[in-house]
Amino acid sequence: MGMTFGIEVACAFEPFRNEIEERSSELAFQSKTKRPHRYCEAHAILWRKSAYDYPSSPCCVASRYQTAMPLTSSHLTQALKTVLDPDLGKDLVTLGMVKSAEMAGNVARVGVELTTPACPMKDKIRSDIELAIRNKAQEIGAGGVSVEVAFTADVRRPNEKTRGESNPLPNVRQIIAVGAGKGGVGKSTIAVNLAVSLARLGARTGLLDGDIYGPSAPTMLGLSALGTQTRDNLLLPFQVHGIKAMTIGKLVDADKPLIWRGPMAHGAFKQLATQTEWGELDYLIVDLPPGTGDVPLTLSQLLPLTGAVIVCTPQQVAQDDARRAVRMFQQLGVEVLGVVENMSYFVDDNGQEHDLFGRGGAQIMAETMQVPFLGALPLRTQLRVHSDSGTPLANWDHPSLGAELDRLAKNVASQVSIASLGGKYMMPTLSVRSS
Ligand code: ADP
Repeated sequence: MGMTFGIEVACAFEPFRNEIEERSSELAFQSKTKRPHRYCEAHAILWRKSAYDYPSSPCCVASRYQTAMPLTSSHLTQALKTVLDPDLGKDLVTLGMVKSAEMAGNVARVGVELTTPACPMKDKIRSDIELAIRNKAQEIGAGGVSVEVAFTADVRRPNEKTRGESNPLPNVRQIIAVGAGKGGVGKSTIAVNLAVSLARLGARTGLLDGDIYGPSAPTMLGLSALGTQTRDNLLLPFQVHGIKAMTIGKLVDADKPLIWRGPMAHGAFKQLATQTEWGELDYLIVDLPPGTGDVPLTLSQLLPLTGAVIVCTPQQVAQDDARRAVRMFQQLGVEVLGVVENMSYFVDDNGQEHDLFGRGGAQIMAETMQVPFLGALPLRTQLRVHSDSGTPLANWDHPSLGAELDRLAKNVASQVSIASLGGKYMMPTLSVRSS
């Protein structure tokens, strides 16, 4: 009878088939004790079989067999191979994101290195890991397990090319341009707050105000009282609000018109980018001049960009310009990380939302151009006030505004990870066809 029992329960206890067969007499003995048991699927199978063969259930034996197969770190690795990074579409083990996976008693401790501290998928990854490990425990008949997931982050470089001699900024891991089809849509506001948000989320972040015709960083970052400093012929960036910033606006007379001819503008931009002592940076946000003319086009080619964020307001005329900006970057071979819809709607002091410009227009434009939509930012008086007063961190004192800005920054960071791990990084080139 014991023999029959052993074979019948083998579907759940295959690893213990021999042991069950050998211990069939003990099984019968244990069955008489009627000790209480904890329910699990494997138990249930044994229970059903035993109810047939042994009216008084031998569940205490099942418990013993369950603890006889504890989870090991290799079981954890097997479980983690089934957990996909939701953005990157590959499993955590293949992506090299699992830094440790160990059992300590009945606690599974897993260390995961994310590709950005601004990962929007942290909670999902954590719950997927917990589920995969619990499923694994059940599958092998191990007892209850608790799971602890610890996250670290290391922003990856797009690829080894960026370390090469041709890279003018080898210590900067990801360079993200912020562009717009035209001026006044909030490009500088987004660039500044994107940089501050990424820094708040734990990334080493710089801001290069490359809008040489209308530098906004001196005002938006409150740099007016600060003087420029140099060391060993390099400009020292302004260390403010958690970021490192440099702007042409601090190198020229603020009240004089900035009249740049093409080559001068390129020279000034390149000098600003390459002769600033940035140190090691995870992200450098570059605020480009607006439009799709010669200057923004050429500036986009001077640095190895991971990609470009396009800022657009919802109106049709703004969309038309933004579409041209998207095409410009695509023609240059620069990945379009996505479109931000700024001034999407207006929120008054009572929290009431008003659709002024045709909310959702930029989102539809992004969808029709098949580029990611990074999110919408409403018109908020506080954002304008904090921009004018050079106090961007105050945006995070506002209950909704800080969260809206963080959501944008996380979406940008996740598109950067996708772009760089997808290997799409390339030095921009413009091919000119003669017809
Ligand atoms: P751009 O760089 O595209 O020329 P700016 O970032 O300088 O535009 O923004 C233009 C003006 O609009 C600034 O005064 C800025 O504070 C304001 N602004 C931009 N976005 C918003 C917003 N979402 N809510 C309120 N004011 C905004």
